[in-house]
Amino acid sequence: MREKLVAMLDHGRQAFESANSAAALQEIRVRFLGKKGELTSIMKGMGQLSAEQRPVIGALANDVKVTLEKLFEERSRLVGELELQKRLAEERIDVTLPGRRSMGGSKHPVTLVIEEIAAIFSAMGFAVAEGPEVEQDFYNFEALNMPKDHPARDMQDTFYINDDVVLRTHTSPVQIRTMLKHAPPVRVIAPGTVYRRDSDLTHTPMFHQVEGFLVDRNISFGDLKGVLTAFLSQIFGKGLQVRFRPSFFPFTEPSAEVDIQCVMCKGQGCRVCKGSGWLEILGSGMIDPEVFKAVGYDPAIYSGFAFGMGVERIAMLKYGVNDLRLFFENDVRFLRQF
Ligand SMILES: [Zn+2]
Repeated sequence: MREKLVAMLDHGRQAFESANSAAALQEIRVRFLGKKGELTSIMKGMGQLSAEQRPVIGALANDVKVTLEKLFEERSRLVGELELQKRLAEERIDVTLPGRRSMGGSKHPVTLVIEEIAAIFSAMGFAVAEGPEVEQDFYNFEALNMPKDHPARDMQDTFYINDDVVLRTHTSPVQIRTMLKHAPPVRVIAPGTVYRRDSDLTHTPMFHQVEGFLVDRNISFGDLKGVLTAFLSQIFGKGLQVRFRPSFFPFTEPSAEVDIQCVMCKGQGCRVCKGSGWLEILGSGMIDPEVFKAVGYDPAIYSGFAFGMGVERIAMLKYGVNDLRLFFENDVRFLRQF
């Protein structure tokens, strides 16, 4: 038994000294010192020893056990340190590397233009009003002098929810809602989303408009021209030529289309203005007495003007964007430029 114990001590020492991980050390410990390990199996021979030999072999077995335990602990400490150093080396952080910048959001160009338009009109005393996007036929058409059989309804490719409810085709219903609630004088702009069944290079089913109107005593076409000319020179820059062309809208009479000198070619003629030197920018007119009747204003006492413009069109001209769809694709590389 003595030889067996000495041989086991030798093997155990070699095994511990060549172990390189905590798991391997644990495995060796079980192999030699565990309940079913080598030491236990050697000790089963104790019964056959003489009474003199028994305490000697017992003491030796104990020495072997203590020695191996000590080896296990020393090696464990060393392996633990090596593993820690290895981990520290692997997970080392270079604090001198530049940090990762979090990307800040920015406002959509359509929002920027709406805010700029609102700021210009606010300075002229206009308040901002909003209305529902799912709108009753009465506010979207009827009260704006477009009864059910009116041909002008065909001009607006309407999304119908049912016979009496539509997705608003323009922001003009806000005009009706405001006038029904407030007696003159009123000065309001209504920015918002509108919907039409239309989709190509220059049309999207959803887009943005700003409607504006002013009603008071003695309001003339001269006031309309003054306000809109002042607005256009602020949003596109001073010195820009503006012209008013006769037009037709069911809810204004007389009506005028407003053009600005082409911002791309300064009136020389280019692809954007189709060679004319002019760009159509907004629709306007004196509010039709029929509209006043629908909201209970007396057309004998009050007069006023209204106008409407497409926000995307203004954004395209202001920022030189040539494809309307870019505004709706929300490509961050595009949006980040504003
Ligand atoms: Zn041009």
